[in-house]
Amino acid sequence: MGGAFLIFGPPGAGKGTQAPRLAARLGVPHVATGDMLRANVKGGTPLGIEAKSAMDAGELVSDDLVVRMLGERIAAPDAADGFLLDGFPRNVAQAEALDALLAARGRPLDCVLVLDVPEEEVVRRISGRLVAQNGRIYHELYDPPASPGIDDEQGLPLERRPDDEPDVVRNRYRNVYLAQTLPVRDHYRAAGVLEIVVDGTGSTAAVAERLDAALPA
Ligand code: AMP
Repeated sequence: MGGAFLIFGPPGAGKGTQAPRLAARLGVPHVATGDMLRANVKGGTPLGIEAKSAMDAGELVSDDLVVRMLGERIAAPDAADGFLLDGFPRNVAQAEALDALLAARGRPLDCVLVLDVPEEEVVRRISGRLVAQNGRIYHELYDPPASPGIDDEQGLPLERRPDDEPDVVRNRYRNVYLAQTLPVRDHYRAAGVLEIVVDGTGSTAAVAERLDAALPA
């Protein structure tokens, strides 16, 4: 189907859990700046080395670095008909940079999909989050792997993200999400971009069903 989509919500809203399947359904690549940055940190690239300290502290990596990385990604051939952005833009300056990139392609953002989850639920989810090497996300209680601590698909150990520690989560929610990222939603509302709000509470399957129902087929 194609189109430029953005999945929006606080850390722990379920963006990374829902986006891969949703992107496949929309027929566009899933473009997650957090995943791209973590891959660079793991690979020890210059970009990863520059980004790591901000990421570990739950702060935003510099706009310059992230906008350049995103610009290169959406210029790739597989993103020619669109993409599902996850974790970008994180502030209004990034949203303006994205507007310029999209204007150059002659195609604005089609839709902002908001996953609506209250703060207490976000904190509960993040405190049990475990991540596989390939990016698949589990939860110790809500979506556990078959054997504790082991990825069902590849059999490798699951990891906890360094920025999922409770103090860092609070910083990410209050000082980053509420103060810097939430205004991005107003930015797109003011621009008249279609906004679809989906209740992000409950099971992965329930949220997936709501997303499917909310999106034009
Ligand atoms: P995420 O996986 O989306 O929660 O991102 C993890 C971390 O990567 C964030 O807490 C930031 O440190 C960094 N990051 C991801 N996307 C961005 C972005 N668009 N701008 C700045 N930093 C980002």
